[in-house]
Amino acid sequence: MTDLFYALVPAAGYGSRMGHELPKQYMMLAGQPMIYHALVTLCAHSEITTVFVVLSPQDEHWRTFDWSKFGGKLQPLFCGGQTRAESVLNGLLASELELEDWVLVHDAARPCLSARQLARLLDELRDDEVGGLLAVPVADTLKRADARQRVEYTESRAGLWQAQTPQMFRTGLLLQALETAPAVTDESSAVEALGLFPRLVNGDPTNFKVTFPQDLQLAELLLQHGKKE
Ligand code: C5P
Repeated sequence: MTDLFYALVPAAGYGSRMGHELPKQYMMLAGQPMIYHALVTLCAHSEITTVFVVLSPQDEHWRTFDWSKFGGKLQPLFCGGQTRAESVLNGLLASELELEDWVLVHDAARPCLSARQLARLLDELRDDEVGGLLAVPVADTLKRADARQRVEYTESRAGLWQAQTPQMFRTGLLLQALETAPAVTDESSAVEALGLFPRLVNGDPTNFKVTFPQDLQLAELLLQHGKKE
């Protein structure tokens, strides 16, 4: 049996922390809407068959951009939900993938994913029995704050990693996980709740999630300097 790989990009959020009316996946970044940059990387990988984009049923921005350069490899699905996990679950159900197909779930708001990081994730996980995710070991010292925003104590960072995306699991496992644990902020948490142990694949800090306004400038600099190659 040959393994098939698909990508699914949840892009049905509003990005309220950006303090902007335009959903953040459509904010302009290096001359393109933010989501474009991750889609370029995912579509360029020769082993990824289709890239599904999960949009809000009320989305009015998608059709205002020209996606023709991606051809049939890009498939918008207008079935986003109230939470990221619900958007992913709805997208998986609408995609009609086979249960054994691999699916790589990637945030629209991580535009600096590089071809190299994506290739590493696929290569390290293609024979894995659970699947896993890109992640980076925590570098900073971690402080627990009290209600007055004073340091209550210092957390140990030993063994702590920051989860990124893509997160790569078999479709059947991910469906089961998200149906069992819908209140999660990433796919790995849902799989962990089944008692499984996803693998952490060493990523790169440049694959950060654009969340706050200042993140936009950093992403723009990285994209303009060809950091994605
Ligand atoms: O808001 P946050 O940065 O955590 O969103 C992560 C990703 O999940 C984004 O790509 C966002 O568009 C997506 N999302 C979604 N449906 C929601 C909420 C977030 O597809 N209801």
